[in-house]
Amino acid sequence: TRTPVNVTVTGAAGQIGYALLFRIASGHLLGADVPVRLRLLEIPQGLKAAEGTAMELDDCAFPLLQGIEITDDPNVGFDGANVALLVGARPRTKGMERGDLLEANGGIFKPQGKAINDHAADDIKVLVVGNPANTNALIAQAAAPDVPAERFTAMTRLDHNRALSQLAKKTGAQVSDIKKLTIWGNHSATQYPDIFHAEIAGKNAAEVIADEQWLADDFIPTVAKRGAAIIEARGASSAASAANAAIDHVHTWVNGTAEGNWTSMGIPSDGSYGVPEGLISSFPVTTKNGTYEIVQGLDINEFSRARIDASVQELAEERDAVRALGLI
Ligand code: NDP
Repeated sequence: TRTPVNVTVTGAAGQIGYALLFRIASGHLLGADVPVRLRLLEIPQGLKAAEGTAMELDDCAFPLLQGIEITDDPNVGFDGANVALLVGARPRTKGMERGDLLEANGGIFKPQGKAINDHAADDIKVLVVGNPANTNALIAQAAAPDVPAERFTAMTRLDHNRALSQLAKKTGAQVSDIKKLTIWGNHSATQYPDIFHAEIAGKNAAEVIADEQWLADDFIPTVAKRGAAIIEARGASSAASAANAAIDHVHTWVNGTAEGNWTSMGIPSDGSYGVPEGLISSFPVTTKNGTYEIVQGLDINEFSRARIDASVQELAEERDAVRALGLI
């Protein structure tokens, strides 16, 4: 039998946590033959609700679930962690300045990065979901100098999945027929879903669609503003699809992308495509055996260049702001 994998989830008592934990425990994160041990990290006010969720996890009698531990101490929560899903964050509230938001999140992600540095397993893989995800990932990574920087990633897979689904709807194709779509930049309203290299049933997606106005005025804003549209319709945020994307992100990272396809991940830039080194930006990546590589050599047209640059500019400003606050 395989050794259990330690998976730590922060903000475990929240909406995304509730949609995420049962799927981790049932084998969707790592594979149907991989036992898991869950660590639920919460702030003190969240502990009781996390205990309630743990009771329900017990009641599922998942054969793969080999233990649940609940704590409000990051040093305990990340002890021996192989995978860390950083979901809990300080959301922006009305009237909050960006600097205040970044500072509040620095107070969460800096100590968590340090605890990961000091206590996690050598093969630790980190996914940041809590917003502003890219910059929260940068803060955590900077606090973990002994962990290879590339282990800190931010989630743009929900944007990727949203773009796949919009493209399928527009063209009548199945989602499974669409390949090589890319989300570039920040997980924010400036993100850029790029279809110029995408293929729909083997044909170039931009040529199939041949409608730049639809791209600029419909597709891109629909993908970027989907979260707000869901809040408007459901009266609550998109927790289940966010949890699903977190599962997809880690599953792909661990198990690999299919031949002839890639995915999108927020990862520390190595300078590719003019994205300043060190910024945690979304790129097209292939994955294999638990590692990833940026897809190289893509031709970036003018339409794409302007949008990538704008999103990367926003990331650079966020980085400068957290630097000025002494968070990195
Ligand atoms: P959710 O579980 O709904 O969301 C958690 C985070 O995920 C938020 O920062 C949210 O950002 C982000 N997010 C990313 N993508 C999405 C998406 N598509 N839809 C919605 N959210 C998305 O928040 P809850 O308030 O229900 O729960 C948060 C939990 O975290 C609470 O239980 C709280 O106690 C806990 N917490 C734990 C901390 C810790 O472990 N140290 C620290 C801080 C909080 P956004 O709101 O900007 O969309």
